[in-house]
Amino acid sequence: MKNYSNLSTMNFEISRKQKLFLKKVDNICKIIRPLEEESYLNERFNWSTISEFNKVGMLGCPISRKYGGLGYDIPTYLLAIERLGEEGNSLRTFFSAHISIGELILQTWGNPEQKRKYLPYTTTGKNIMAFALTEPNAGSDPSSIATNFEDKGDHFVINGKKHWIGNGGIANLLTTYAKEVGSTVSSRRNISAFIIETDSRGLHIKEMKNKIGMLTVNNAEISFHNCVVPKKNLLGQKGHGLTIAYSALIDGRLSVAAGAIGVMKDCLSESSSYAQSRIQHGSLLAKKQLIQHHIARMVLNIESSRWLVHRAAFIRQKLQNYVEGLKRNNEWQLNMTRNNKKYSALRADADNLSAIVKHVASNAAFDSSNRAVQIFGSTAYKKTNRVARHFLDSRAITIYEGTNEILELKIASHVLGEQFRAY
Ligand SMILES: Cc1cc2nc3c(=O)[nH]c(=O)nc-3n(C[C@H](O)[C@H](O)[C@H](O)COP(=O)(O)OP(=O)(O)OC[C@H]3O[C@@H](n4cnc5c(N)ncnc54)[C@H](O)[C@@H]3O)c2cc1C
Repeated sequence: MKNYSNLSTMNFEISRKQKLFLKKVDNICKIIRPLEEESYLNERFNWSTISEFNKVGMLGCPISRKYGGLGYDIPTYLLAIERLGEEGNSLRTFFSAHISIGELILQTWGNPEQKRKYLPYTTTGKNIMAFALTEPNAGSDPSSIATNFEDKGDHFVINGKKHWIGNGGIANLLTTYAKEVGSTVSSRRNISAFIIETDSRGLHIKEMKNKIGMLTVNNAEISFHNCVVPKKNLLGQKGHGLTIAYSALIDGRLSVAAGAIGVMKDCLSESSSYAQSRIQHGSLLAKKQLIQHHIARMVLNIESSRWLVHRAAFIRQKLQNYVEGLKRNNEWQLNMTRNNKKYSALRADADNLSAIVKHVASNAAFDSSNRAVQIFGSTAYKKTNRVARHFLDSRAITIYEGTNEILELKIASHVLGEQFRAY
């Protein structure tokens, strides 16, 4: 049985500087709220997100100051993401795709030249990022991807198709994952990661329509037809693509979970205000015990998820501190996962906690938004209603960044051991 790290060293205090930053994020959230709501109804990305949040540096929140970011730690970044979640999973997803499964990959796995070339543009919102892993025939099993690459000596050629890529149609830069043509090594070790500029020759992007939620997220199909990628855009080492993609998903899951807390807070606030103003059967809905049951369940959902997010953020920060220490001492190598025991143990802990918290918080957000809709009754059966939008968007968060079924298998194999891995 794995040893779970103790909580004694966790510190929940936040500094004056962090509070000030979170206040600025809160102010921008209030400014963009009507624009986000309008964009949701029109099913299009809200461009003011970039210009407004850029004013407070949010687009590079956890990225080093060296590259134009704010240099905040993961727990602070996740508190900001929690606030964004109050405005909806759609808005929060833009940031998760740009930062958690975008910039953070470059910051961790990019070489100095790649970081210098790309990050200063992403932290300032001039370039937007996306993460392109999923394919029509490879969703919950990324090792079965069919997108392939050929090494042509001075460049790579990529062919294949990705879909559902968040920010896909608005991104200038994405990471993608492909298998080497003709390679005989196992599929887990033959996938490589690439940095792709979206104006590359042979890249075609088509926005996906008719979604049931996440209506301000630009999801896209991305096709590679003999797409030419410069040699210098290989991310990490050849064959380390899944290591990189899975490390991104740790951050992706944490952002989903933190955002889910915001979603639940907003559902609670909206539905309790409504219950305190709507009279049926001669008294306020808030007086009815069955309505109070829904309210209490929402509070239980929030509190049981919130502390788990803080704990997972703390464990993730420990991994970050270790990696940064190695980098400072020039000891960081791209094959760390396979060769460094301490790195592997810290990463396994962060991976496991991120799976647990994403599972708990996404189910809790879906449940809370469902209860909120129930309290509103028919009033919430329209997309113009906030809790209706939370409900529609929360359906997706139990599916992406690892389906909750696969996360359960992952959580079980963390306890039972790799030999019992059932996925
Ligand atoms: C709104 C949205 C945004 C997205 N954004 C991105 C993005 O930015 N980048 C990206 O790369 N991808 C993205 N995705 C894709 C997402 O990651 C995949 O949809 C997800 O991994 C599941 O893959 P699938 O949909 O193909 O389902 P499938 O893999 O076909 O699975 C279908 C069902 O079967 C279950 N299942 C599969 N295998 C098992 C098993 N062994 N045991 C038990 N149950 C199993 C799954 O849990 C699921 O419930 C997004 C998806 C959505 C809906």
